[in-house]
Amino acid sequence: MARLFVISGPSGAGKGTLIRGVLEVSPELARVARSATTRTMRPGEVDGREYFFLSADEFDRRVGVGEFEEHVEFAGNRYGTLKSEIDGLLAGGQSVILELEVDGSLVIKERRPDAVLIFIDCPTDDLHRRLVARQTEMAGEIADRLRIADEQAQHKGAFDHVVVNEEVNRAVHELLTTMERELECS
Ligand code: 5GP
Repeated sequence: MARLFVISGPSGAGKGTLIRGVLEVSPELARVARSATTRTMRPGEVDGREYFFLSADEFDRRVGVGEFEEHVEFAGNRYGTLKSEIDGLLAGGQSVILELEVDGSLVIKERRPDAVLIFIDCPTDDLHRRLVARQTEMAGEIADRLRIADEQAQHKGAFDHVVVNEEVNRAVHELLTTMERELECS
């Protein structure tokens, strides 16, 4: 049976890297659903691939017509999970991965109790180092994201699984086996 996986954890914990790693090993395991956001596009990002990049007005309009399963404000920008992305993939028999911050993940669990919530954790020193190294955030934004990371870590207990990303290959393997086990028992 197709499952809905929600992968969360602090900014810089390596959620994207681990998801890509899992799908490289097992491309048919699941598809990543695209979210909508009002944040500025980063170099290399493509509208409709990483995200649907929307103006604040367009985001509001879509909230108004009920297009989002959940939506949040995060570090000064808005992000939302599109119902159409989740339902389209699940209806086609395809498992879905959502990559969300913690509050949105908990909303999804409330609305869809069958969703499998996986928290990607990582030591704070590593978080800081990775956020600086990826050069996509300004210094103030990094401080913001580290503060949010502390807050978000307090909700780890609400997740079905925690994967610690200290060594990428090991973490990819752990994430993959966790997802495979969930698919086997569904
Ligand atoms: P970034 O700006 O680094 O792409 O994403 C910032 C944070 O927003 C990340 O933790 C990411 O997982 C989260 N995020 C991305 N899309 C959504 C969404 O649709 N809903 C929620 N709640 N969080 C999202």
